[in-house]
Amino acid sequence: VLTVTEIYRAILGESLDAGRVCVIVRLTGCHRRCVYCDSAFAFQGGRRLSVDEACAAALADGSGTVLVTGGEPLLQREVVPLLARLVAAGRRVVLETSGTRGAAVALAEVPAGVRRVVDVKTPGSGLAADPADVIDWEGLQALGPGDELKFVCVDRADYVWARDLIREGRRLPAGPCRTFSPGHGLLPARELAAWLLADGLEARLQVQLHKLLWPDRERGT
Ligand code: SF4
Repeated sequence: VLTVTEIYRAILGESLDAGRVCVIVRLTGCHRRCVYCDSAFAFQGGRRLSVDEACAAALADGSGTVLVTGGEPLLQREVVPLLARLVAAGRRVVLETSGTRGAAVALAEVPAGVRRVVDVKTPGSGLAADPADVIDWEGLQALGPGDELKFVCVDRADYVWARDLIREGRRLPAGPCRTFSPGHGLLPARELAAWLLADGLEARLQVQLHKLLWPDRERGT
């Protein structure tokens, strides 16, 4: 059984698949509390659905792309069969996760064919005095080409932290692309763009498309 906050059609706001029409499956619960979290409504509550029911609801939408997110979707073991069935049904499947310690499902257990997008927590997330203490570094090594490492930056200190982590190269897997995203309402995208250009970093800049399209909506984007 899965606990599900919502299943709805949307424009995928982030990742290499940004802009695609998709169906979002938002699982309930998160063991973290980032200061800028925009999905705190998914921390509690939700409907209990069997894997069959959740899968059927996602497939019934008809969208070719499915985003499985949360909360933290890897807190629920049954996300694994759900993901496997969505891939088997021919859907393009994207999974968003914090990649922090304490999940019930390791990144290595995510079925093949799922694009794993890991939000590598920066100091500005407020998760810990040093976010390196909560990141599952070992788990990240399961990521490869086709997966993504995302760094949400709320200020220059976050950017420098992420940049130096990438440059140093030892703790991050080599395959996934690196994406920088400004914290919405906290850092102008243009500033982040200027820093990336000045450093010539091998990374891509991303803005949250759904926040541009629907800046006033807190849910359903
Ligand atoms: S990990 Fe994601 S869902 Fe959990 S608190 Fe942080 S931003 Fe929110």
